[in-house]
Amino acid sequence: MDARERLRKYLEERRDLGESEFVLDSMSVDDVLRAIGAISIGPGRSGPVDEPRDRPANGGWRGALTAPVQGSDPALVGKDADAGATRPATSGPSADILRLATLESIADVVESCKRCPLFKTAARGVPGDGPSNARLVCVGEAPGANEDLTGHPFVGAAGNLLTKILAAVDLTREEVFITNVVKHRPPGNRNPAPGEIEACSPYLVRQLELIQPKVIVAFGTFAAQTLLSSKTPIGKLRGEVHRYHGIPLIVTYHPAALLRNPAWKRPTWEDVKLARRILDSATDT
Ligand code: URA
Repeated sequence: MDARERLRKYLEERRDLGESEFVLDSMSVDDVLRAIGAISIGPGRSGPVDEPRDRPANGGWRGALTAPVQGSDPALVGKDADAGATRPATSGPSADILRLATLESIADVVESCKRCPLFKTAARGVPGDGPSNARLVCVGEAPGANEDLTGHPFVGAAGNLLTKILAAVDLTREEVFITNVVKHRPPGNRNPAPGEIEACSPYLVRQLELIQPKVIVAFGTFAAQTLLSSKTPIGKLRGEVHRYHGIPLIVTYHPAALLRNPAWKRPTWEDVKLARRILDSATDT
């Protein structure tokens, strides 16, 4: 087997394992296959991979995170798209949420929220945890079974990994604010529907307005696409600094996706290091 054939086989194996990026030079697997003239790919084979919540742990993550930091420059390649989930009008059904004055009052309103049908199947709302002066906000997708039981975000397997990810850049859960795009659990951990995201996003918008963090980290497709009002796949959004209404926004893979696909640990590590560097260079006013 010649070298080209071996490379083709290797890339196809990686793709079949769910990897769509060729992380060494940011080309996609399909791009590389195309470049070496070994592609015959039908539509849909290289699309973004679904990111389920709370998969069993795969190990090894901590090691990758504790590897020495290479380079110290915050490569702020910011596109400054400043898209951001738009703040809805000051009248209409979201207006009351956008006037809530504290994170506690948001949490109270979430608890009795009936803006979408998810309240009917969820045990309770999961508004988010953390201090109102948090410098970093983590945004996930939606509560899973453990979060639904406890009322706290990211407390299952994905949550344990998130805790380790934060610890690897010297952050504790207690000093960051952790929340989700959708505050009630979708039944069976299905993806949140567009209408549910739309109904719930005023809570996230208001939480971010009140906290005014120095950096936001969007974990997973739903957080990234909601905050950036974008449909771009996560593999293309990550690795650079976006802006959410002026606040630096880093996009990375969801911890649950990392449990399933260890190949994403390395790019995630790069993303969280970037968030850390922005945090370190931000001044407190
Ligand atoms: N996954 C999420 O996106 N959020 C949680 O709170 C838990 C798992």
